[in-house]
Amino acid sequence: KVRVRFAPSPTGHLHIGGARSALFNYLFARSQGGDFILRIEDTDQERNVEDATSRLMESLRWLGIEWDESVDVGGPHAPYQSMERIDLYKEYVQRLLDEGKAYYDYMTEEELAQEREEQMARGEAPKYSGRDRDLTPEQRKAYEDQGIKPVVRFRVPEGKSVIIDDVVRGNVIFDSNDIGDFVIARKDGIPTYNFAVVIDDHLMEISHVIRAEEHLSNTPRQALVYDAFDWEKPRFAHASLILNPNRQKMSKRDGSVIQFVEQYRDLGYLPEAIVNFLALLGWSPKGEEELFSIEELKEQFSLERVSKAPAVFDTDKLAWMNNQYVKEADTERLTLLALPHLQEAGKLPSELSEEQYEWLKQLVGIYQEQMHYAAEIVELTDMFFKTEIDYTQEAQEVLEQEHVSTVLEQFSKELDEASDFEPETVKKAVKATQKATGYKGKQLFMPVRVATTGQTHGPELPVAISLLGKNVVQARLQQVLS
Ligand code: GLU
Repeated sequence: KVRVRFAPSPTGHLHIGGARSALFNYLFARSQGGDFILRIEDTDQERNVEDATSRLMESLRWLGIEWDESVDVGGPHAPYQSMERIDLYKEYVQRLLDEGKAYYDYMTEEELAQEREEQMARGEAPKYSGRDRDLTPEQRKAYEDQGIKPVVRFRVPEGKSVIIDDVVRGNVIFDSNDIGDFVIARKDGIPTYNFAVVIDDHLMEISHVIRAEEHLSNTPRQALVYDAFDWEKPRFAHASLILNPNRQKMSKRDGSVIQFVEQYRDLGYLPEAIVNFLALLGWSPKGEEELFSIEELKEQFSLERVSKAPAVFDTDKLAWMNNQYVKEADTERLTLLALPHLQEAGKLPSELSEEQYEWLKQLVGIYQEQMHYAAEIVELTDMFFKTEIDYTQEAQEVLEQEHVSTVLEQFSKELDEASDFEPETVKKAVKATQKATGYKGKQLFMPVRVATTGQTHGPELPVAISLLGKNVVQARLQQVLS
């Protein structure tokens, strides 16, 4: 049975790279009728961040990624958090110690640092020398008597090819001589990632380990641990690196990309779009189609179409894709996403009357076509929240045409005489202006649009004018006419 896992360390918010790994695992599980497990790998305690687990879960849920087993819902292989599995790891460490496949190492930090320095001075890659590989019981006792606490190291077999049969990359071959004996348990007995991950994946019956290329270099170590226990390895699938738009490897401090799922949510991106975008980051569907719902992805996803070529995080494409979903979204939903941004910008009060809410909904509605994500609403609708506007150079050129005052005077008069200010009424006023002045088409619409909105293009004019309200519109017309 297909069983896959996403195994984040609770070190902060959900990164887009992590979200992609989670998504690939989830989609693969669902496409195969398998299980998706969320495991929290928190043995690197200095890096743990309070609340990180609940925030990671919140971001995953927001994306629509649901797990079958984890710390919150339990499952047949509980606990799902490494720090609660310490006793279990210790048993396995002991087993390797008993079989001579692991050993105690008493080297101090200073000694290790010195060793590394000397190796580097000789131009060698730093690697544990193996000093304590074969200590006699007497030698061990001498160190113990000095009060030195040991780590446990894995005894890496010499001269062995470690072959990883990767679904995405084919056979990847490592030379065991390049791998130093690595630490599997720290001085305090807490195991390291490379050890615990093998115990967990084995005991949790994980069939496929799908993760990013960053972890490929860890894989031979993990493979050696499987071999030491004589356990069958899961299939590995290492997806590509994600590059930033400048085609550099993305780092967490990279300012060119927004990197955390929560940030996209806060900007008013839609989870369907993020999922769609992440799915195409290193996986490609069969046809030309680019827009997929998560349900469609669950059906179509396959590891065979995961690519090893680096995937570029194209922020323009993400904006485009989000806009595709915004256009189709329910206006009510977008209004609720847009509202906090307008409130934060001080454009709207913290509580809206029903009337204000209806007004906002219409406003969002006329920008739905062009809005990429909800936070853009503040900039897009700026002219709705002030009376006077600054006319751009382009706008001024329109207004300098000779016939403009004739059109605007007539339009102002028509509006004044109208009984209400509904879009239909505004439309009629424009028509009446055409009749009275003889100007039509661009000669009619441009002056009206520019004078009332300050822009040469924008949303549907009668609705925009209606939403601006009579006072603001008349004030702006007078501003141009005076
Ligand atoms: N805890 C590891 C990480 O967050 C998981 C790596 C893996 O999938 O094996 O990077």
